[in-house]
Amino acid sequence: MRFIWIILLSFSFLQAQNLPENYFKSPLDIPLVLSGTFGELRGNHFHSGLDIKTQQRTGLKVLASASGYVSRIKISHWGYGKALYVTHPNGYTSVYAHLNHFNKEIEAYIKKRQYAKESFEIEVFPEANRLQVKQGEVIAYSGNTGGSGGPHLHFEIRDGKSRPMNPMLFGFDIKDTYKPEISDLFAYTANDTSYINGKNGRQKLRLIPLENGDYTTENIKAYGKIGFGISSIDKLNYAPNKNGVNHIQTSLNGNTCLAVDFNKFSFSETRYLNQYIDYEYYIENKSRVQKLFIEPNNPLSIFKENKDNGYLEIKEGLSYNYLIKVKDFKGNTSSIRVPITPKKDSSYYFSPQKKQTSYLAKRNHASVFDIEDVDIYIPKNALYEDTYLAIKKEEENYQIHHRTTPLHYNITIGFDVSQYTEADKEKLFIARLSDWGKPYYSRTYKKANRFTTKTRSFGTYKLVADNAPPLITPVNFRNKKWMSNYRYLKFKIEDDLSGIQSYRATINGKFILMEYDYKTDLLTFDFNDNIVTETENNLKLIVIDNVGNTTTFEGTFYRKTK
Ligand SMILES: [Zn+2]
Repeated sequence: MRFIWIILLSFSFLQAQNLPENYFKSPLDIPLVLSGTFGELRGNHFHSGLDIKTQQRTGLKVLASASGYVSRIKISHWGYGKALYVTHPNGYTSVYAHLNHFNKEIEAYIKKRQYAKESFEIEVFPEANRLQVKQGEVIAYSGNTGGSGGPHLHFEIRDGKSRPMNPMLFGFDIKDTYKPEISDLFAYTANDTSYINGKNGRQKLRLIPLENGDYTTENIKAYGKIGFGISSIDKLNYAPNKNGVNHIQTSLNGNTCLAVDFNKFSFSETRYLNQYIDYEYYIENKSRVQKLFIEPNNPLSIFKENKDNGYLEIKEGLSYNYLIKVKDFKGNTSSIRVPITPKKDSSYYFSPQKKQTSYLAKRNHASVFDIEDVDIYIPKNALYEDTYLAIKKEEENYQIHHRTTPLHYNITIGFDVSQYTEADKEKLFIARLSDWGKPYYSRTYKKANRFTTKTRSFGTYKLVADNAPPLITPVNFRNKKWMSNYRYLKFKIEDDLSGIQSYRATINGKFILMEYDYKTDLLTFDFNDNIVTETENNLKLIVIDNVGNTTTFEGTFYRKTK
């Protein structure tokens, strides 16, 4: 019997390790230092790759991690910015994002298509034989484009089913001798009849550090079905960045309750992060607590082992030792020991019950609610649980429940605008208000007397008018200027209310490709695109905001011709 187990175990071990080691090489020729690890908890998603630091610079050579062909090029204002996908003969795809620009051949390939489409934003899927690359070949230069918060390379490895995998599994060696840090521990009661230290609901437990770096807590008195949650990060050597942990395992009296493994997931499940973390706590405290129990409607594949969904059932007459082990990829481990004494406390009090309202949205049904000029449509499964919604109107503001409740799918909010004039309607848009009342444009679809928006955030919404056109400010341009010695033409474009919807620039009537960086409001044209062939040139730049207010800038500049 034991012999069979050994065979089975070694078989599954082989299965797990059946990855092409040393197939992928580092995409940068500098020492690898990370500012982000795989599976790290981010806004509405798990991080799908490694964030490799680029010494606070852009323009570092990005190398093909393995031979293959460029299968996708995507350029977008947001998200990955300029991104390159290389598909390899073994079926895997490596991804390189936030790039500054591509190598000469790829740059020429994509620019041709951007000019044909007359758009900076583009996505193409080149044929397998079109742009082949060799391992170690320079394919691009690192940057800070899209939603990047500073220069770095976002690097991914995806399997044949487009699932991102932890690149560390493929043999990249990055020094990490530090244990994960655990900053907070919480205990949760699972229902109204369970208690922890005489209380019901979520409560923070005091962590007592031990000499060896592990933690314990005071003996807690509990009864009934309970669970725990932690917030933890991992630091690696050579960088102070707070990265994600790789593995969490919990056990009760030596028996595993839950194992969570951050090495692979699929994009279709990544948003369930919001059901994995204590979402309300996150919105209120900006800190992500990972719940070490699986609540209903959480299909995440990162849970590898579970008994009773990670919950504990504390009964009288027994004694309990709960252990949480948190590991980083290198196996450095921090643990918390929680001694639990069963106690059916009679002095318990309840946390405030979820308030009942007349707007009950059931998870399994679509719901529609009306309040004065606004209707709200919530599709089936948009909520993780049946929820009493708080919906009310205060002056012009419609409070559509609380930001602390996560939404998995878009809801639709409709405004009746029949009382407005046509001229007013043109300038109006649906805005989501921040906690301090600042309006943010929510993509507004306009039909005669009804405006709608789709959103995955509860909160306060209202109609706001934007009467001001965008602002265009030349950076290095002046009318009648000689610009022979300039490589770039730069403008700043801004719109302070509804935001910029589109822009278009021409020289002597011909489209020019201007790259837009929303973080710096900069539009940049590269004279090396060789569009300018005349001495005297008429530049025209049109910028339109999200309600259609338009600003046009026109001017003349000169350039020496050959
Ligand atoms: Zn990243």
